[in-house]
Amino acid sequence: MSATYFTGKPCKRGHIAPRRNSTRACLACEKIINQAYRAVKPEIYRVASRQYRQRNPGWATACAKSYRARNLEKVKAARRIYCKNNRQKLRATFAAWRERNAERRRAYRRTYWLSYKVRNANKIAAIRRILRARRRAAMPSWADQQQISRIYERARLITASTNVVHHVDHIVPLCHPRVCGLHVPWNLQIITADENQKKNNRLIESLALAPHSAPALAMEAPA
Ligand SMILES: [Zn+2]
Repeated sequence: MSATYFTGKPCKRGHIAPRRNSTRACLACEKIINQAYRAVKPEIYRVASRQYRQRNPGWATACAKSYRARNLEKVKAARRIYCKNNRQKLRATFAAWRERNAERRRAYRRTYWLSYKVRNANKIAAIRRILRARRRAAMPSWADQQQISRIYERARLITASTNVVHHVDHIVPLCHPRVCGLHVPWNLQIITADENQKKNNRLIESLALAPHSAPALAMEAPA
């Protein structure tokens, strides 16, 4: 921004505003003239602003940042209203972003998980022990252990060959307030970690929505 001075005296239109050193123009008047120009010649205005931004990289970002800092509550309120009125559109935008950045998100999750694993080694070991115990408890004596091992081995191979983490998932969950699946081959499926996460979210959602309504379901041995 160019230098300005301020006398406190009104301009010929009555504004009490700073004036530009170079032209002695009142900034309030300048703003009105610029807005009028913009209304009459939007294309020229657009080109000129683009050129200005190119000559002054970082200027627009700095302006936006400074505006945000000065009007934080206003910006937040406007954002809230915008989000509320454009939920569908935003959902689609985020979904598209996630799709465009799938690889980046995977890489981020991988990095995050690696560091999480180091920071929470004890916690993870404890969870693994619990899960192992649950699988053992849910595995009938007649279950084909070799076949189960082969399914886990296949999930590891798919993960390694596709570079997408695949989990062995229990189609009917082993441990769920209203559902009890078994740790047997036909209750196992190989799905991506993403799908697994979605499934968990759905289960949690359905629990939250209808805490006592769904019937209990038990997997039994085939006749
Ligand atoms: Zn003026």
